[in-house]
Amino acid sequence: MLQPASYALGRWIAPGPEARHIYSPIDGAQSALAGGAQLETSAMLDWARDVGGPALRKTGFHDRARLVKSVAQYIDGRKEELYALNPLTGATRKDGAIDIDGGIGTMFVMASKARREMPDGQVYLDGPMDMLSRSGSFVGRHIAVPMTGVAVQINAFNFPVWGMLEKLAPALIAGMPVIVKPATQTCFLTEACFRMIVDSGILPDGAVQLIVGGIGDMLNQLGPQDVVSFTGSAATANALRQTPGLIRNSVRFHSEQDSLNATILGDDVTPGSTLFARFVSEVVSEMTIKAGQKCTAIRRIIVPDHVLDPVSQALSARLAAVRLGDPSQADTQMGPVASAAQQQDVLDCVARLQAEAALVFGGPDALDMPDHPNGAFVAPTLLACADADAATLVHSVEAFGPVATLVPARDREHGASLANRGGGSLVTSLFTDETAVARDTVAHISPWNGRVYINSSESLAESTGHGAPLPHMIHGGPGRAGGGEELGGLRGILHYMHRSAVQGSPDMLSAISGEWVRGASRSTGPAHPFQRTFDEIVIGESIHTSARTISLDDVEHFAHFTGDTFYAHMDEDAASANPFFPGRVAHGYLLLSFAAGLFVHPDPGPVLANTGLNNLRFQKPVEPGHAVSACLTVMRKTRRTATYGEIAWHVELINQDAETVAEYDLLTMVSYAR
Ligand code: NAP
Repeated sequence: MLQPASYALGRWIAPGPEARHIYSPIDGAQSALAGGAQLETSAMLDWARDVGGPALRKTGFHDRARLVKSVAQYIDGRKEELYALNPLTGATRKDGAIDIDGGIGTMFVMASKARREMPDGQVYLDGPMDMLSRSGSFVGRHIAVPMTGVAVQINAFNFPVWGMLEKLAPALIAGMPVIVKPATQTCFLTEACFRMIVDSGILPDGAVQLIVGGIGDMLNQLGPQDVVSFTGSAATANALRQTPGLIRNSVRFHSEQDSLNATILGDDVTPGSTLFARFVSEVVSEMTIKAGQKCTAIRRIIVPDHVLDPVSQALSARLAAVRLGDPSQADTQMGPVASAAQQQDVLDCVARLQAEAALVFGGPDALDMPDHPNGAFVAPTLLACADADAATLVHSVEAFGPVATLVPARDREHGASLANRGGGSLVTSLFTDETAVARDTVAHISPWNGRVYINSSESLAESTGHGAPLPHMIHGGPGRAGGGEELGGLRGILHYMHRSAVQGSPDMLSAISGEWVRGASRSTGPAHPFQRTFDEIVIGESIHTSARTISLDDVEHFAHFTGDTFYAHMDEDAASANPFFPGRVAHGYLLLSFAAGLFVHPDPGPVLANTGLNNLRFQKPVEPGHAVSACLTVMRKTRRTATYGEIAWHVELINQDAETVAEYDLLTMVSYAR
């Protein structure tokens, strides 16, 4: 029998005398004994805050992202051990892929996005600098820094691996240690994955701990720098939010809870079309993958009332073909729900929904599974609601199993309004080929949804599915869905960081952010910066080139050479009539090219390539006869690979009157070696 242990203060702690018995949803036999250990929760918090946090924050975002990537690689190499346990949660191999490979993939994506989009340091810059004074000696910028407490992450039973990894990755990258508390029913799978993380030896001491079973009074002991990240039912979330310690200390509480997600079939989609078939197949997937135990699963199928019959027939036919059975068998398409208690809960919800909606397919009496008399199986169940406006339970009761209700809509606006009756959802999907339908519906439903998924004939071959939260995109939703947000690329990491407005001189802001800002001091290096290696180049180092006078010949030559004979460069009268120009002016691209000619060093050296320009602005026209020089300043350095890093240079083009005519950030890859 499995005996998942807790991991506290660097030690594994076996289940205690009060451990809970966990039964297999396949045959009802006992499969695990979990929890009940006496844990020193206060010491665990201290260990995370005093040992794990400081160890993580010794390095920057990029190093921590590398740790997360290494952990993901380690788990990926051993994931078959997780797949071996997966059926005991009721999940088929395909269900398990969403949980196990999905969790690992999320870690990879978060790690790679952090390295691409965050600075190689401890301070994240949130937006550009703001000038707060006339001469620029006093400026301001928003920064985000890691919180210095601990993240307590409480997870739901339905994604024992993904649920842990998708929250662990952003917290660790941010620099926060984590205490994971999985749902007890499926904690043995979480524990197996967590054990891999510990065994990998990749993370510093105190970075992660695991509580199997209850967390005692831990939430009451949390302070202002701690974060709670909860996933589960609205009822539990509402109870936990009331914890006096959390309220007293304004502890950040992210909540991802149950949700009455909807899908809307556009009135332009006709039965028999490819898009209609895709709609049907997505609804069936959402009902049957993980036996419908997905927080994002479709609960309400909103269709134009005139196609209610064809939709219900198509869905029923597909649901009739779904093979239920032992999830460890390759030909099983849908396993049981996670436990007998969950089975009862789903059946109770179906009974309640039947007060407002008629059974179309499945239902409590539709199961015939003589091989699994004690299994927690639920038949895929489709209901149909006749009066969607009068209904209340259809829009509020989450049957967390293979259950969905058809909801007829009179027109587009009615359909969108019905979707919003869920009171806040994780996701609503829309199937349409009409952009106007998409635009109007999105405007209507976005305030009530964390994510809107639109599928059309153009996207259906590559679209990822209604129910798939992607690490790049926000997962979470308003109102009933908890009001929280997870993932969404860097947004997910920022949930474990604190944003401050920092005001001071440009030199102060430069030193704090590790990035040269306009107005901060510049220095001169001992040689041309293009002849210096990545490590030799210093932030703030600068060269100011000699000036080049731009002639009318230069403008003509450039125009004919490139084919850019736009009138502002070629026709004096037409240019003068333009409100932006005094007469013929030099091409902006000519200025950029001349600037490069002024500042590059021609010899081979550590600068390997120019990879782009950011934030380019042409601020003042340059007329023939004007002289332009370039001021090149090292703005930011980011290590990218084992052999080279990225240097962002601030480039300012200045005219003969010392006015800025153009400004941009130039990105180059620079070698660590000469
Ligand atoms: P749940 O019963 O609310 O439990 C969620 C978590 O809270 C579990 O880890 C549970 O631990 C823990 N918990 C319960 N009481 C607690 C307490 N007093 N102190 C500390 N922790 C406590 O939810 P569930 O049945 O596991 O999950 C199903 C629900 O989660 C569904 O409603 C589903 O929609 C929702 N869900 C939402 C999302 C999302 O992202 N929005 C994702 C997945 C699931 P024990 O198991 O030990 O009780």
